[in-house]
Amino acid sequence: MKNTSLNDTIVAVATPPGEGALAIIRLSGPESFPIVDNLFRNKDLSRAESHTLHYGTLYKENGEILDEVVVSLFRNPRSYTGEDVVEVSCHGSSFIIQQIMETCIGAGARMANPGEFTMRAFLHGKMDLSQAEAVADLIASESKGAHDLALKQMRGGFSEEIKKLREELIQFASLIELELDFSEEDVEFANRDDLKSLIRDILKYIRSLKDSFQLGNVIKTGVSTAIIGRPNAGKSTLLNTILREDRAIVSDIAGTTRDTIESYFNIDGIRFRLIDTAGIREAEDTIERIGVERSLKEMESSSLVLYIFDATELDPVQLVEELEKYPLGDKNLLIIANKMDLNPYLKPEEYYSGDLIRKDNFITLSAINEMNIPYLQEKMVEKALLGVPGQDDAIISNSRHYEALLRSENSLQQALDNLSSGITGDFVAMDIRHALQALGEITGEVTTDDLLDKIFRDFCIGK
Ligand code: GDP
Repeated sequence: MKNTSLNDTIVAVATPPGEGALAIIRLSGPESFPIVDNLFRNKDLSRAESHTLHYGTLYKENGEILDEVVVSLFRNPRSYTGEDVVEVSCHGSSFIIQQIMETCIGAGARMANPGEFTMRAFLHGKMDLSQAEAVADLIASESKGAHDLALKQMRGGFSEEIKKLREELIQFASLIELELDFSEEDVEFANRDDLKSLIRDILKYIRSLKDSFQLGNVIKTGVSTAIIGRPNAGKSTLLNTILREDRAIVSDIAGTTRDTIESYFNIDGIRFRLIDTAGIREAEDTIERIGVERSLKEMESSSLVLYIFDATELDPVQLVEELEKYPLGDKNLLIIANKMDLNPYLKPEEYYSGDLIRKDNFITLSAINEMNIPYLQEKMVEKALLGVPGQDDAIISNSRHYEALLRSENSLQQALDNLSSGITGDFVAMDIRHALQALGEITGEVTTDDLLDKIFRDFCIGK
């Protein structure tokens, strides 16, 4: 972070760029009140109480009227950042915003760095680091699942449990380090059985959090899904049918019709990113071949594959032959027999084939008549959540947390192994210190400027 001083007053626009009915300019720091107070001619904010709203006219230094605004006052420590905070709600014209910003900066405020408000909240102990990160996730959430997850973490989530376990571990670490001071005398302050049992408890918790990462990631970033199949199988029709059911879709059609089409939609709070790999394998000309290559790549990187075929076209033997042409590996696969309206007597069991085509991954439907679409959606959610723990448990969705958990797990496992093989206390103490360091990085009890810089630079300005 370029400027992590807490002594100055920062200012930034908190609302998105562009015109809007209203915009909010936020100030935080010791001079917030005087700076805004000076912009009012006939108001005195200096003695105003915290958590009050004030309507008035803002003037420039030269006496020109800027805007009629409402300001909200938050006195330290009862504010988002823990400092004196003023939020100016002005009219959302970029001209007014720029003028107010310039006037505040002219009066001594400094333009805030990305994430600086939230970083100050962290530095003043208003939230821990994982909660600060959850603020960014909350703002970026685009599905109910992602929103719930971020909200839960922002309100504490797994931080409390990690802090508690870390405290207990610190006590043992100090006892073992104390033993080292008495190394001549062969004393044991830290009960080895208690220590082992604590480490086992922590490892269990860490592993359950690590297991939740897959679900957390699915909830946060969505499930990348590819629709594949022969031309005219009904891929586009199915895509349109699914998308029609979801009102809040963003469809992003890139390039020619032979390119891939990406769309987003939510089912049961899970976000799916659907890649329509139009024209896969039918490369006749160059443009199409580029499209096909890209499609295959998309398919490889997707975590769920919907293979769709025309039920009037392929018999069971041909279906297996077709499927074997794709590099499916151990992909999560749903096989869809489409156009059932034209072939209502199809017997699904005749298509089942070993591990590849089973009752639980074979779906019959009609994309055009919207027959069986809810069942497909149910199956998609089921596949997305396959093998991941229940949603009521603590869930991590941040790769930084995952990486720190992995490090602490390794160190604790090492400590446990060393304890069991009777290796001297100083090695155990070192393993535990490493684990404490990694756990502390999650909640921010251990931080470095580099770490803070990395986390907050991805925030946008005004957060
Ligand atoms: P794609 O090439 O795989 O994207 O296939 P399309 O979605 O373009 O569909 C090819 C043709 O099949 C179109 O004429 C669709 O109207 C038709 N089609 C798609 N789904 C169904 C279905 O469920 N029943 C019937 N009868 N026709 C369908």
